[in-house]
Amino acid sequence: MSGASSLYRTLENVKGVTCRQGVPLSSLTSFGVGGPVAVLAVAENTEGLRNVLRSIADSGTKWFMLGAGTNVIFHDDGFDGVVLRLGSAFANTERDGSNVRVGASALLSDTLSFCAEHSLSGLERLAGIPGSVGGAVAGNAGAYGATIGEKVQSLRGFGERGAARRLESGDVHFDYRYADFGPPIVLTEVELSLEEGKREAIVAEMEEIVKRRRERQPYEFPCAGSVFKNPPEMKAARLIEQAGLKGRKVGGAQVSDKHANFIVNRGGASSSDVLSLIDIVREEVQSRFSVSLQLEIKVVQ
Ligand SMILES: Cc1cc2nc3c(=O)[nH]c(=O)nc-3n(C[C@H](O)[C@H](O)[C@H](O)COP(=O)(O)OP(=O)(O)OC[C@H]3O[C@@H](n4cnc5c(N)ncnc54)[C@H](O)[C@@H]3O)c2cc1C
Repeated sequence: MSGASSLYRTLENVKGVTCRQGVPLSSLTSFGVGGPVAVLAVAENTEGLRNVLRSIADSGTKWFMLGAGTNVIFHDDGFDGVVLRLGSAFANTERDGSNVRVGASALLSDTLSFCAEHSLSGLERLAGIPGSVGGAVAGNAGAYGATIGEKVQSLRGFGERGAARRLESGDVHFDYRYADFGPPIVLTEVELSLEEGKREAIVAEMEEIVKRRRERQPYEFPCAGSVFKNPPEMKAARLIEQAGLKGRKVGGAQVSDKHANFIVNRGGASSSDVLSLIDIVREEVQSRFSVSLQLEIKVVQ
């Protein structure tokens, strides 16, 4: 029995955790690719989360924290460990003056709607970014010159053995699509510092941003957003387009002909189709422009 299978037997009896075996990761990620996970553990409450983190540490099993799966890709042979997710108990949202405290499993889109309803401004340019608040903070998601990191006032979460941690904004190093929290942490709650604004103006800006995105990005096909980070002073999409790679296909994966920094699943793509296409793009851009493209999406090993 593998470490993950024996951990499943343990976790089955742990309070506050729901476990399943063999769930296809294609069903948990926006790309729609990836084989089965040995154990999917959903923490239903804080106690369950602490229990599962302790059990994982005791067993030495490899694990991965998954949010809404909109920025990750798993291999076709799946993940021989535990994929941990937070249940809906971690999705509460509440206002405190001009701050908002939101659970890490809340969708970013729901958080933006909450802010608009409460006339709180600051996150409008993130409209249209899919995924959870935890995933957004973990990768310092951003768009149109704004990032979530600049609005974070404090964070709560749990360390590898289930120890509670609270971080203030100054404890976290945010950079371009990057956040360093020190030792690994499962984020459970984020406090965002916003400003009072006018509801109509907030809604209008969000709608304008979503409209722009829909015009420029391939929302009609499964994908994981921008594949590569923009190199300093350059646009990855432009380099890929200039390398003549728009529309290039491997199996069911294609460099979007709408936005060259998106790879889309045109139907039936495998993870290896996507990864092969990523390699082709990197090699071509490297050989034509001597630029080494770095991944924005996370390939989970
Ligand atoms: C159509 C499309 C458009 C996109 N546009 C943008 C964009 O404009 N800007 C942008 O920045 N991104 C964009 N993305 C990428 C993605 O939506 C964001 O990165 C999003 O914030 C990821 O959130 P998630 O919950 O899906 O995280 P996941 O993909 O599940 O995970 C991403 C990372 O966050 C970590 N993580 C998740 N939850 C937690 C937690 N609770 N605690 C600790 N770590 C955690 C994971 O371990 C992983 O390393 C786009 C994606 C798509 C599909």
